[in-house]
Amino acid sequence: MNTDLLIKNAQIVSEDGIVEGSLAVTGETIAAVLRKDDNVNAKKVIDAGGMLILPGAIDTHPHFFEPGPTYREDFLHGTRAAASGGFTTILDMPNTAPPVRDEETFGIKYKAASENSLIDFALWGSAMPTNISKINRLHELGCIAFKAFTLDAGPDFDFSGDFAQIEAMRAVKEFNGIYGAHAENGDIVKNSTALYRDKPWNLDTHEKARPYYAELSAINSLLLYAKITGCRLHICHMSIPEGAELIKIARENGVDVTVETCPHYLLLNKESAGKAGTFAMINPPLRSKERMEKMWDYVKDGTIDYIGTDHAPYTVPDKLPEDGDLWKANAGAPSIDIAVPALFEEAVINRKMPLNKFSALISTNAAKRFGLYPKKGRIAPGVDADFMILDADDPWVYTRAESFSKTKVTRFAYEGRRVACKVRATYLRGQAVFTDGKIMQEPGYGRFLRSEKLKNGL
Ligand SMILES: [Zn+2]
Repeated sequence: MNTDLLIKNAQIVSEDGIVEGSLAVTGETIAAVLRKDDNVNAKKVIDAGGMLILPGAIDTHPHFFEPGPTYREDFLHGTRAAASGGFTTILDMPNTAPPVRDEETFGIKYKAASENSLIDFALWGSAMPTNISKINRLHELGCIAFKAFTLDAGPDFDFSGDFAQIEAMRAVKEFNGIYGAHAENGDIVKNSTALYRDKPWNLDTHEKARPYYAELSAINSLLLYAKITGCRLHICHMSIPEGAELIKIARENGVDVTVETCPHYLLLNKESAGKAGTFAMINPPLRSKERMEKMWDYVKDGTIDYIGTDHAPYTVPDKLPEDGDLWKANAGAPSIDIAVPALFEEAVINRKMPLNKFSALISTNAAKRFGLYPKKGRIAPGVDADFMILDADDPWVYTRAESFSKTKVTRFAYEGRRVACKVRATYLRGQAVFTDGKIMQEPGYGRFLRSEKLKNGL
């Protein structure tokens, strides 16, 4: 066998199980997963020294703020950071400025991402009450799924009341697409926030202002509307174990729903991240340690399908408003470069999650749901050679100062966190995009992805 690249002496987390051996890559695709490589003639050989090879991670939920406030993050920096953290595909969120709401705004986003993204990218479209008639066109253009907010999302994005949620689901159902939502009940959040607004802001009062039942109520309604409309539903960034219980019941009742959680709901909680103050202000909020621990049960039993980082870096003025009113701070935090290794440590090393389940959590499940499978999301002959080499025993200390991300602010909750394992290299379509601390490809190496399933009209 002649091949371009042979990575020897690796533990390969392939779709058929863990293989101790070699990965052969020809051009952009995986040529073979081999236990023995005696007959392979490779142009380049790398010894992985027993390290792991996992499928390239897929982030279902980053915010790169482009077009818009790119001083916080953009495709160039955001996807470099993503590659350094083992991601090979991102599904960029549509609530930019302007949001991806029609053909013109899709074009702006598409151009920015095509010119700058280092890794493969898909684009979410918006599902706002003001653009329901444009959803079908956005689908034709290739939007991978459609995002709504069930509560006030600021001036650039129109939130959806219950009726608009149903109407938009009907529009998405027309082509059997996916409707995703930020799930928090706006009425509960507004009124509960009013009760705490005069108290000092901290992670506890923030969480009480946006209590778990605000999220649970919105998830409950969305599941009901998905049942009524038959639309495929994606619950974004779920932070509460109670939501997982509801989703289990809904699945038994025939609702086609998947759910993402974020690294911060598994790695941080309102007690542990208190020192970071508004730099750990995220919505839905960080919950209690007890809820965080329970979230792991649903990750391990597979109720939670995948990980979206909700990566959203902010600057110091964004987080510390000039007038000192912390309730006005922007919610969101960066995590795209620490998510995979930190989750690997917690899931695989500390909680004994099997490697194939971890691989499904960070890659395969999202690829399947969003129609990127079988080319993405797995290690098998004939598929895109998207993978990471991960050293399970290479401790390091995270600092934003060394991140490829645009905002280098070092006050976020992960700052100084010791992580037991490290992403040593990330390969996308057969080429290294990141190796040993360096970015290896030019901006624009990433390609636009659309759902294979929907493309074929299935
Ligand atoms: Zn988000």
